[in-house]
Amino acid sequence: MRIEEKEALLKKFAAEGEEAEAKVPIDPDHPEEPEELPLDKVEEHHFIDTHCHFDDTAFDEDQDELLSAMHAFGVLNVVNCATDVKSCRRTLKIMKRYPWVYGAMGIHPHEVKNLDEDAIAAVYNLAEENARVCAIGEIGLDYHYDFSPRDEQQDWFIEQIELAKELELPIIVHSREAAQDTMDIIRDYEAERVGGVIHAYSGDLQMAEEYVRMGFYLGIGGMVTFPKVKRLIRVVEGIPLERLLLETDSPYMTPVPNRGQRNDSRQIVHVAAKIAEIKGIRVEEVYEVTTQNAKRLFGIE
Ligand SMILES: [Zn+2]
Repeated sequence: MRIEEKEALLKKFAAEGEEAEAKVPIDPDHPEEPEELPLDKVEEHHFIDTHCHFDDTAFDEDQDELLSAMHAFGVLNVVNCATDVKSCRRTLKIMKRYPWVYGAMGIHPHEVKNLDEDAIAAVYNLAEENARVCAIGEIGLDYHYDFSPRDEQQDWFIEQIELAKELELPIIVHSREAAQDTMDIIRDYEAERVGGVIHAYSGDLQMAEEYVRMGFYLGIGGMVTFPKVKRLIRVVEGIPLERLLLETDSPYMTPVPNRGQRNDSRQIVHVAAKIAEIKGIRVEEVYEVTTQNAKRLFGIE
């Protein structure tokens, strides 16, 4: 992604955050200031963040400090999702340093414009470089930003599904305002042979059930804590916990009450708490079951 595009995106996320905070009523039992998660807090729960971008420039200043502290917060593993060939290389570098970091290799729909076959060959080779490469992603379609032409997005999505089948790796799917085309491509190109996760799922319950029937998981992140997400809440209610994964999409998608700030894996506590509340179950169960789900899908030991 070009620097200007990234800056525009970050500005937009920050603006969304302010807007959301303005809409959230103040709870008298909780402080008005956003809750701080200090680095010395030891988390008693254990979980896997199945979607993050710790190689993003947003973590340039403190990537090491943050990753070194993650275990103390209950983070067992993270799956770092690459977005282009350079990001694949950066992800592999982080994986070498931290044996509990897993990686997904792939080209994000924002980045597929002007790619050629060499890029796919590079992703293929990099995916074979480390046994903890556990998925092809993040791949898919984004018709909201349209940073790449739609026909190119579709072609590269299909090519990368074929690559995942060849490598026998699940896929991590990004789909924004492209629900039907995403489903059609996944069905037509038999992606259920490898399965995967629909990251930041935002479709309706009916489509969610169809994905689950095909063996896919749904990634649930900060969005579930946002105001006015009735459709997503119905999805979380209606889909068995055995088919949900916890994720952050760090540095993006920061949950309430910390919207507008940079996101990282520690913030999953707000997502897990919200899922427990929606399903009327204990949060311990959310951590336990979703951790097993992530291990099963990505072959995490
Ligand atoms: Zn992502």
